[in-house]
Amino acid sequence: MRKSILGYFMTVLMTALLLCSLFFYQAMDHVILSITKKDMQILMSQVHQDITHQGWQYLKETWQQDDIRLTIFDLSGDILMDSIYDPSDIVEEDCQEVQHALKLGQGYTQRYSASMEQTMLYFTYYDQDLSIVVRLGLPRLTLRNYHWQLVPSVLLSGAMALAIAWILSRRFARSISQPLNEIADEMIKLEQHVYDLDFKTYSYEELQRITQATRSLSQSLASYIAQLEREKKIRQTFFANASHELKTPLTSIQGYAELLENGLLEDESLRKEALQHLKKETKNMSHLIRDILMISQLEAKDVKVTLEDIGCYLFLKETVDDFQTLAHQHRVTLHWQCEQSIHVWMSRDHLRSLVHNLLANAIKYNHEEGNVYMDAYVKDQSFILSIEDDGLGIPLKDQSHIFERFYRVDKGRSKKVGGTGLGLSIVKHIVHYYNGTIHLTSEENIGTKMTVILPVIQKGDDIS
Ligand code: ADP
Repeated sequence: MRKSILGYFMTVLMTALLLCSLFFYQAMDHVILSITKKDMQILMSQVHQDITHQGWQYLKETWQQDDIRLTIFDLSGDILMDSIYDPSDIVEEDCQEVQHALKLGQGYTQRYSASMEQTMLYFTYYDQDLSIVVRLGLPRLTLRNYHWQLVPSVLLSGAMALAIAWILSRRFARSISQPLNEIADEMIKLEQHVYDLDFKTYSYEELQRITQATRSLSQSLASYIAQLEREKKIRQTFFANASHELKTPLTSIQGYAELLENGLLEDESLRKEALQHLKKETKNMSHLIRDILMISQLEAKDVKVTLEDIGCYLFLKETVDDFQTLAHQHRVTLHWQCEQSIHVWMSRDHLRSLVHNLLANAIKYNHEEGNVYMDAYVKDQSFILSIEDDGLGIPLKDQSHIFERFYRVDKGRSKKVGGTGLGLSIVKHIVHYYNGTIHLTSEENIGTKMTVILPVIQKGDDIS
């Protein structure tokens, strides 16, 4: 990059120098011509005075200027006097300037003179009183005539300009390439997972923008990587917990299976008990697998979810009917109410899982003769579902954790009632999927109330 900046600079400079010289040459030529013309006018006025006072014949003797040719013509164009040649020797070239002067009074002409063997500038003047045409002739000087005086200074100034440009362009190239190298060195640190980049302050605004953009990019990258790490950790913990949760029922199933296989359970009632255990453990396992699948589906945001219009009243009525057996087992009474007209636009699986988990918890973590109250209504553009029980309640210290995966307040009790520890985590995921919120109020031995608030979604609305 430095080399190309240098090359670019030098090319620009050379072009500028060449163009400058060209324009200078033209301008100087013009200046020389106008100075010469002015000089000739002054000289001519002197000549005119001398002729008027002393006659042109007198000039023949007195004319001293070697480099200026003075010629006097009669009106027919014949030479009466010439300061350099004898009139009889001159084979005068086509003197258009005489015709010009006769026509216009005076004027300049530039042409090649065969007798002088060079290009001449003539100033010709028609003296009407004396009936003569006076002509002053000077070699036409151009800048070329001063070449040898000019060449050394042109070369010297050119060389100096090149040297200064070389030094300045090197400095300029360095002032750009060095910061870029420093920025690149800092950015390479990202490869070593160093995200806290330390850039200098640069005077160029563009470089400042690069460092600012890179710094904010590296910060977002750091957050992103941290988020990935966090998610990785959560996944690892989840899989470790899930494997652990699966291992326990599997070991139990294996144990009972071996007992049955080896015929160690001779008693019919023991065999029946073992089979019941096997049934219970497999049921637990299938619930666990169902919940794990549900969680991973909710987390994989690209999984297609089919939304549908669900009439809440009928849906809750069927759900309560399904739960009557469980409620009966736990000697808990279910109470519920729902406005007939309520319709929600959501996935039936999601709504089922949401209501099932909350209702099951309210029944399972209750005591005999307990009550569960379910209420569904629409308020302020939100669908509200509250499930309240007068059961065991949740200790304050556990309340902030119960939505975590596999978190159980009382592990023994949860397992006994067939809990997987994933129910509320699933509920939280579903609520978030619909941009809703869930609120918990609970007091130990008094009861628990879960309130889900979901924004009412109409058919065709986008959930983002
Ligand atoms: P689980 O499968 O163990 O029921 P959840 O995620 O559904 O898992 O609930 C987490 C824990 O929160 C439960 O183990 C239970 O201790 C507690 N919990 C949930 N709902 C209630 C409730 N209504 N009353 C008392 N405790 C509850």
